[in-house]
Amino acid sequence: MTDTAIERKSLLYRSKVEYGGWTANHVQGCGHGCRYPCYAMMLAKRTGRIRTYEEWMQPRPVSNAEALLDTELRRFGHRVDNVHFSFTTDPFMYDSASRAGRPEICNLTLRLLLRLDEAGIPATTLTKGVYPLEVSAGNRLHPLNRYGISLVSLSDGFRSRWESGAASPSDRIASLEAIARAGRRTWVSIEPYPTPNIDPSADCVEKLLEAVGFADVIVFGKWNYSRLATEFDREHGFYADIAARVRSWCMHRDKTLHVKKGTPTADDTVEWSVFEAS
Ligand code: SF4
Repeated sequence: MTDTAIERKSLLYRSKVEYGGWTANHVQGCGHGCRYPCYAMMLAKRTGRIRTYEEWMQPRPVSNAEALLDTELRRFGHRVDNVHFSFTTDPFMYDSASRAGRPEICNLTLRLLLRLDEAGIPATTLTKGVYPLEVSAGNRLHPLNRYGISLVSLSDGFRSRWESGAASPSDRIASLEAIARAGRRTWVSIEPYPTPNIDPSADCVEKLLEAVGFADVIVFGKWNYSRLATEFDREHGFYADIAARVRSWCMHRDKTLHVKKGTPTADDTVEWSVFEAS
């Protein structure tokens, strides 16, 4: 464990985030440094865990995460039906300098996934990094795990402006496709989806959907916390059109879709069960 590691008093919590359920909080901070801005960073600032963006960019693994998981599974594991990694960090964080996953974060996530598998509990993951080989090539993880990437643009220019520490869109897609080919369950989070004044390619949502057409489940949501997106949408009715096109694309390809609250055509259901399908 690194000398920047921190200790926590608890690991699992029930998230109030839409479609959220039991969630692991095993790292503080994220080197991807998204500028949308990142909701997890805003929350960490509000609760006094960090003070600056630079501090957020220095991830700190929770050194007692495995011991906490063991204790919590003994205490209330019978109530835990699925664990999400994570609403507070990226579980397969990428290091853009070495163009590989950060071993101290990825290995910790893998060890926690293995422990959950031993307890018979599946997990859901979401990353802007790339998955380690253990996920696509190994058979030691829970067969009902669902692996996802977060992807809102195929443009590397968009990535370097808004998600500078994340893996390239093509590397993210290739990594998830390898997992899908290995017969594992996959999903893609298309959120926060930009307006064309933020990403000129945003009007070509079908191109993005086709690029991840191997995934079983799509989650779609608009860009929040930005006047740029709100003003453009007000003027052009952009999200009503795009959300309808996403819905139509998913319907014709028999994909499970969840449209997030606040986005046109949003689903009423906020249950984790969106991930249970297929
Ligand atoms: S990858 Fe997720 S947790 Fe990390 S900075 Fe971006 S939005 Fe925040």
